Amino acid sequence: MGRQLTERVWGRLQADGLRRTPQREAVLEALDDADEALPLPVILARARRRAPGLGERTVERTLRLLTDRGAVDAIHRGTGEVAFRLCVSRAHHHHLVCSRCGAVAELPECEVAGWAAREAERHGFAVEGHDLTIWGRCARCRAPAAPAPGQNL
Ligand SMILES: [Zn+2]
Ligand SMILES: [Zn+2]
Ligand SMILES: [Zn+2]
Repeated sequence: MGRQLTERVWGRLQADGLRRTPQREAVLEALDDADEALPLPVILARARRRAPGLGERTVERTLRLLTDRGAVDAIHRGTGEVAFRLCVSRAHHHHLVCSRCGAVAELPECEVAGWAAREAERHGFAVEGHDLTIWGRCARCRAPAAPAPGQNL
């Protein structure tokens, strides 16, 4: 993976007319290093390694922009915390998120669109979209005696 994914995401963003700035690069690369969704403080620390002096507000704003453009997923974990991750697929999709270690699986099939449309119609709504994240424990974290995140055996 590594920088290749960042390059792919950039290709998409530039086609959308987004300029490539050092701040945006630092944020995207901070996310590219991780398999799991990262909370803001972690992204900030990683991004500062590449762009020292980067402000928290700038990183927050950059993440919001990248989320709006579909390059980043803002994932709401069961704890109420929001974590961010580079998004591989551009089409509508959902995620399975591990509430312990932050591991993410992308679910390309959406099975709830029909149900959402039916419920919306019943209430006189016209559907514009929906959100769904499934959280729980990943296979690794369910294994007995799994080490705590970040703890080496
Ligand atoms: Zn995604
Ligand atoms: Zn896990
Ligand atoms: Zn869906």
